[in-house]
Amino acid sequence: MTLLITGGAGFIGSAVVRLAVSRGLDVVNLDALTYAACLDNLAAVADAPNYSFVHADIRDADALRNIFARHAPHAVMHLAAESHVDRSIDGPGAFIDTNVTGTYHLLEAARAHWEGQGRPDGFRFHHISTDEVYGSLGATGQFTEDTPYAPNSPYSASKAASDHLVRAWGETYGLPYVITNCSNNYGPYHFPEKLIPVVILNALAGQPIPVYGKGENVRDWLYVEDHADALLTVLQNGRTGRSYNIGGENEARNIDLVRLICAILDRLRPRPTPYGDLIRFVTDRPGHDLRYAIDPTRIRTELGWRPSITLEEGLERTVRWYLDNEPWWRALQSRDGVGTRLGTA
Ligand code: NAD
Repeated sequence: MTLLITGGAGFIGSAVVRLAVSRGLDVVNLDALTYAACLDNLAAVADAPNYSFVHADIRDADALRNIFARHAPHAVMHLAAESHVDRSIDGPGAFIDTNVTGTYHLLEAARAHWEGQGRPDGFRFHHISTDEVYGSLGATGQFTEDTPYAPNSPYSASKAASDHLVRAWGETYGLPYVITNCSNNYGPYHFPEKLIPVVILNALAGQPIPVYGKGENVRDWLYVEDHADALLTVLQNGRTGRSYNIGGENEARNIDLVRLICAILDRLRPRPTPYGDLIRFVTDRPGHDLRYAIDPTRIRTELGWRPSITLEEGLERTVRWYLDNEPWWRALQSRDGVGTRLGTA
């Protein structure tokens, strides 16, 4: 089986590529190598005979046509996207271009390929999306696959739009698709502008640890390697034309998450005063969703999938990974916008 994975040089995409290659699948990684990409994430598979990399942009219809013709994939896993909410507040245009228009071009290229092959039933277009499309919850409740879409940020609106395009290509043209909507990921190779790496790296540098608002926003944290496993499970066993929510079963308030990371660092890399002393509350993100929570019933009952580790275990692994991989994150800290406060509108 040949998989065309878009965005495979990013955080989640690279975890999917590493896992799929290790399971013997043929993987073609298509990535434009934006500021968020890092080919070092793929060092473990770079020389594998069942892995290849194509430098291309999903907004380039001609390039996509050629890639489908050359590689004849049996499935597409679409992860390429602009993914940082704060950047979407400062510059929404790039999110519309890549997440909406780019997804449209990819769908058209996939459709032409699938029709050219005689519309095989086994073909799959798997769109990797986010639980943020459902908007914000209050103190109780969970998102199911039937929760109405109500995105609040330019990022989540662009992902909701792309979900709708995928569904429409399925309904109108019959393109076999699955959509997954997952909660916040964390783990190794997480780009240093996102919350968990920011906390770890600011703490290690003795810099203030910024927490938006009062830190009361709740997220359901999903370890990235569990997510990659869930994605391959849905790709291979999920029902065509269906959405699956993927959660970590690990809800935490941001402030509790940050304190947990500080406590792990206090143990693994002690300093004279506790890391928690560096926590600073800063102006909140505009439109900041209060709470996301995933009802995992469908993926659990239909596909038998559950996350394998707790938040405490995952954070411990993640902190250790950052302690052991300083050259990786140091190289990324000089990239445009990293280390500055974005998205205050
Ligand atoms: P990321 O920002 O780390 O990686 C995105 C990758 O896409 C990068 O390698 C980048 O170069 C590539 N890319 C961007 N624009 C492109 C274009 N026009 N053409 C080709 N490649 C392009 O993102 P991530 O955190 O790994 O997220 C991957 C996917 O999962 C995204 O679709 C995102 O919306 C979704 N998602 C992420 C999370 C999360 O917590 N990170 C949660 C839910 C859903």
